[in-house]
Amino acid sequence: MNNYKYLILRRISQLSLLFLYFGANAYGWTLLSGTISSSSILGTLPLSDPFAVLQMLAAGAVLSVDVLLGAVIIALFYGIIGGRAFCSWVCPVNMVTDGANWLRRKLYIDKIERKIWVSRNLRYYMIVIALLVSFITGLASFEIISPITILNRGVIFGFGAGAGLLVAIFIFDLFVLKNGWCGHICPLGGVHSIIGKYNLLRVAHTSENCTLCMKCKDICPEVQVLNMIGKRSESVIMPECTNCGRCVDVCDDDALGFDIRNYTKNNLEVTDENVN
Ligand code: SF4
Ligand code: SF4
Repeated sequence: MNNYKYLILRRISQLSLLFLYFGANAYGWTLLSGTISSSSILGTLPLSDPFAVLQMLAAGAVLSVDVLLGAVIIALFYGIIGGRAFCSWVCPVNMVTDGANWLRRKLYIDKIERKIWVSRNLRYYMIVIALLVSFITGLASFEIISPITILNRGVIFGFGAGAGLLVAIFIFDLFVLKNGWCGHICPLGGVHSIIGKYNLLRVAHTSENCTLCMKCKDICPEVQVLNMIGKRSESVIMPECTNCGRCVDVCDDDALGFDIRNYTKNNLEVTDENVN
């Protein structure tokens, strides 16, 4: 069970949040109401998706102080503490893409030689594209097609045709590109990578304990961030790490664990080793 500790905790977190959103709509609960894009705790503390806010601003919307404050709160939380933890602990689509990844491994699809290569930096271009389209159309463009919104709203209000996009992402990740959506395309994941570039919570590697079994690299959805394995003791410094804890879960050698980032020890410059 220890090999699944963080996975179980993440699923509890993701499902509990969906349950609270559902309960707010169905039963009037106020602990967490709204949607992932814009919600509030106890009807008082606003929480807004910073990327959704950026799109609305690019589209020319005039936003309330609450919405802007909510985006600042979220950006500060992930910027200081969580990094890209939004993806692995909050976002419901992570359950879909993790499911596809799990099935890939079970069906040995990973072993089939890859035919396509896509840069993991595509997600950063997607941010620019989404903002440009929002500016041109006057609509928060990614919000309209976002699978995160579709899944979140589907649980709260019921699913429509948009559920097809979730199926498409599952099939894409399963058969076409490993970690295709979350690891390459999703602009919200890119935004959280940028926000969390200097966050405190990091996975730390102790090379003295490492037996080079490579279980961590097999399971990691952003394998390029583990570029220190087999080389040196160091914390994960690349911002695409989702703090999912799967590498910690599967490491039987006590070579990986969560730690607070040591800014004096780890260089802040990131070497971009794109491994898909
Ligand atoms: S990359 Fe996007 S879809 Fe995937 S977990 Fe992060 S925000 Fe959600
Ligand atoms: S390094 Fe570990 S915590 Fe970070 S994304 Fe990979 S498996 Fe998850």
